[in-house]
Amino acid sequence: MSAWKTVIGLEVHAEMETESKMFSSCPVVDSVEAEPNTAVDALSLGMPGTLPVINMRAMEYGIMVGLALNCEIPPINQFARKNYFYPDLPKGYQISQYDRPLAVNGYVDIELEDGASKRIRVRRAHMEEDTGKLSHIMDGSLIDYNRAGVPLLEIVSEPDISSAKEAEAYARKLRSLLRYLGVNSGDMSKGVLRFEANVSVMREDDTELRERTEIKNLNSIRNMSKAIDYEAARQIKLYRDGEGVKPATLGWDEEAQRITVQRYKERADEYRYFPEPDLPIVEVSRDMVADIRARLPALPDELRARFVNELELSHYDASVLTAERAVAEYFQAITDGGVEPKLAANWLITDLFRLMNANEVERDAIDRIPVSAANFAGLLTLVQAGIINQNTARKQVLPEIWATGADARAIVDAKGLAQVSDPAIISSTASQVLAQNDDMVQRYLAGNEKVLNALFGKIMGAMRGKGDPAVVRRVLLDKLAGMKE
Ligand code: ADP
Ligand code: MG
Repeated sequence: MSAWKTVIGLEVHAEMETESKMFSSCPVVDSVEAEPNTAVDALSLGMPGTLPVINMRAMEYGIMVGLALNCEIPPINQFARKNYFYPDLPKGYQISQYDRPLAVNGYVDIELEDGASKRIRVRRAHMEEDTGKLSHIMDGSLIDYNRAGVPLLEIVSEPDISSAKEAEAYARKLRSLLRYLGVNSGDMSKGVLRFEANVSVMREDDTELRERTEIKNLNSIRNMSKAIDYEAARQIKLYRDGEGVKPATLGWDEEAQRITVQRYKERADEYRYFPEPDLPIVEVSRDMVADIRARLPALPDELRARFVNELELSHYDASVLTAERAVAEYFQAITDGGVEPKLAANWLITDLFRLMNANEVERDAIDRIPVSAANFAGLLTLVQAGIINQNTARKQVLPEIWATGADARAIVDAKGLAQVSDPAIISSTASQVLAQNDDMVQRYLAGNEKVLNALFGKIMGAMRGKGDPAVVRRVLLDKLAGMKE
């Protein structure tokens, strides 16, 4: 029998971080910082007699996302009532969109580990309002309505994703796009971005998709990935045991690292959708779409192509540098300051990221580290001009900038770290070192080439690391050659 493969479709809920809610002027607040139920109004609470008004800024944000996902933006939008009863939904219905969503038929290209890319189709993106937040505490439940009515864009993929790794790449790409657009912080710990994974498995030679389950409450991309792997294996085992898979809503138990069944779906959910009678149809003119498109920032795919084509960076370096908007901007600030792109890329990806990792700073916080882009550019300019060597820059200057924020040039001057390139000075130090290490010199002359690096290191050490490596190497070779004769 043919092998099993995994089929995944992701539903992504992204709050559009506007100032006010989707259908009223009630402010949107940070769901973790704000006191519960302090950002509510009659509309968020679903009071009778209130009427919604569309937040056009949220619609604009949604269209920006639709365009970034290569979607078509239909000319007519209509809101619809999705009816269901749950305590986090005070009106008893959610205003959403049904058959006339904001964006349709798009795609996202994801990068796979082998360097290949894969296109994941986006079925639709529709605008709706977020619900309140329930916290189950002991044997009761608490409700915070601050979140109720916050603009929420739901982005639905086709079932084109074939592994947890691909799901992770898709999720990261979407998160990056939202952050580039400035419409969503991507902070999953605050719930502003939430993923649900629809998972099924099938035989390679099946002609139709099989029953799927839906995993909810995934609070991080890592957990999503683990939950998908777990669920695919669970389903394969169910088929092997002859039990079959029943449609179900699942959760991921982080503590136990396993899937839990929340409920089996006996039949499809019945939401009795109908057009929202309190809101007009929204016409999205072609002029409006063109205008929004013209104002989109450069997005990661485009930037990456530019970095590869114009700056001649490797595909890998360009991907790393464009994954986060803040990193791309930091990099561009350095190269705009006259630093050679390849040098800038190497230093950023190797040295700066290493320092950031050691200090547990996320990449997207690069605009808030003690090493400003201007200062980093200054450091690399000193390296580029040969004023300090790479090792001094790496081992002595960069950590000092991180610790104190001081200017690179000032550190070099204060500590006397400037590189010594004068062959006369290097030659006299080299002579002393060779005289003190005659045993090594003899071994070299007897044919042991490996001793060369040790001698080089000793001369550099004697110069407190400040020697110009190229000149030191040349002087050393000259002297040794002279001794051979
Ligand atoms: P609805 O929720 O309106 O019924 P669908 O069931 O068609 O819509 O799809 C919801 C999500 O589930 C989409 O992201 C879709 O790609 C995904 N999906 C649909 N069928 C499967 C399947 N058999 N396996 C995995 N994902 C699926
Ligand atoms: Mg949904």
